[in-house]
Amino acid sequence: MQEVEKIVNGKDLFQRPEYQEVLEGKKQFESSYGATNPEKVSEVAEWTKSWEYREKNLAREALTVNPAKACQPLGAVMAALGFENTMPYVHGSHGCVAYFRSYFTRHFKEPTPCVSDSMTEDAAVFGGLANMKDGLKNCKAIYNPDMIAVSTTCMAEVIGDDLNAFITAAREESEGLLPESMPIPYAHTPSFVGSHITGYDNMMHSFLSQVGEQGTKTNKINIIPGFETYIGSLREVKKIAAAFGDDCVMIGDHSDQWDMPAGDYQMFSGGTTIAELKDAPNAKATISLQKYTTKKTMKLTKKWKQEKLELNPIGLKGTDEFVMALSELTGKEVPAELKIARGRFVDAMQDSYPYMHGKKFAIWGDPDFLLGMVSFLIEMGAEPTHVLCHNAPSGWEEEMRALLDTCPAKADCHVWAGKDLWAMRSLLFTEPVDFMIGNVYGKELMRDTGIPIIYIGFPIFDRHHLHRYSISGYEGGLNLLTWITNKILDKLDEDTKQIAKTDYFFDAVR
Ligand code: SF4
Repeated sequence: MQEVEKIVNGKDLFQRPEYQEVLEGKKQFESSYGATNPEKVSEVAEWTKSWEYREKNLAREALTVNPAKACQPLGAVMAALGFENTMPYVHGSHGCVAYFRSYFTRHFKEPTPCVSDSMTEDAAVFGGLANMKDGLKNCKAIYNPDMIAVSTTCMAEVIGDDLNAFITAAREESEGLLPESMPIPYAHTPSFVGSHITGYDNMMHSFLSQVGEQGTKTNKINIIPGFETYIGSLREVKKIAAAFGDDCVMIGDHSDQWDMPAGDYQMFSGGTTIAELKDAPNAKATISLQKYTTKKTMKLTKKWKQEKLELNPIGLKGTDEFVMALSELTGKEVPAELKIARGRFVDAMQDSYPYMHGKKFAIWGDPDFLLGMVSFLIEMGAEPTHVLCHNAPSGWEEEMRALLDTCPAKADCHVWAGKDLWAMRSLLFTEPVDFMIGNVYGKELMRDTGIPIIYIGFPIFDRHHLHRYSISGYEGGLNLLTWITNKILDKLDEDTKQIAKTDYFFDAVR
């Protein structure tokens, strides 16, 4: 038990005799300790590392183990929090929303505003209209948002609730609390289709198509960041754009919402204004920084007769393309500050190249994140041996293959679309790599295989503040370079510390 005068953390607490006794007592019920034959458990565990098991594992279709994706409404919540004074409202089960909030809060270490209309058994039978009427009124009365963004969980989708009709009915019965002038964009986000990036896309499309207003053309340039989990990346992109003047507007900017100063907590902070959202259709161009996360949204550019650009400013080439596009769109020279930042990044790449060159990596994550990261790894002479995307949309696998074909080690670089992290485990045991790059769910893979993990991706719960840094732009590239190279050097230190055996390397002059 804890003692008030001497509070200890969980790691030390559970070493105390009373906890150890309980844990010891539980072992009789646990697999390898008695309920089954421990030797058989070890035998099967070994077999799961074989090529024979790998073939069966990769052929698996009916079951997902350790998924590398989340569900649609989670992405819709992120899209909603990119707008000023906007409350994400999820029509469906309360438990789902508790999961979305805790998922984001554990990653960003910040509270996540989001409400639900808590559908239960009766709503599943009779429909969720009553929940929507009460929920929207309560949301406005309690939190007073300027906009409410409605998405759905599986439950509401399975019974086929009609959001448009429900919101109209809720407005009519709200006694003026929910006037027509208050935007309530909505998106159906069935979780049994796609992933969190589909949900982001659906919600962002709804914001722009339902709230955007076509009118007089402007000289503005919309930048849609996509499902961006690095607050620093949003700020870095805005900084680069601002170097070309004030024509660029980020559509969906949650950087302040999930990064509030201590002592200054507000329910809503920052975000794209509703006026900027309304004006977005009139911009001369829209840039998506995550094309597979904004497939549906970017189709609006055709209707709006806008120039459409799909860029991915991760790594040197990706950032160069973004900077040059801004230069062309604004008609301005690349500012000196960006040329200097680029030069510093290239200098650092040259310094670290000998350590990353030839290293084999396994990497997983969202489709656009992977395209940027793999491009950067190839720039650094690394070999992306296993590139796994659980939520790969159509066209991604071919694009990634074409990218890997630019790597000199292309024959040993593999794309795994639609596979989960249990499949990755088989790949790591049969075709090992030097390092893994991925989210928190690679932790067990690291323990299982002994391959070091570099935490880059989403979600990352058990390392602090990484999301505050950028992985985009020249400065973001420098961060990636730092994290990856220093992990390589950590490993080198480990491998060269045996006195008179492996300590031949001059470890202080690297
Ligand atoms: S998959 Fe469905 S049930 Fe599960 S959290 Fe997402 S919306 Fe809820």
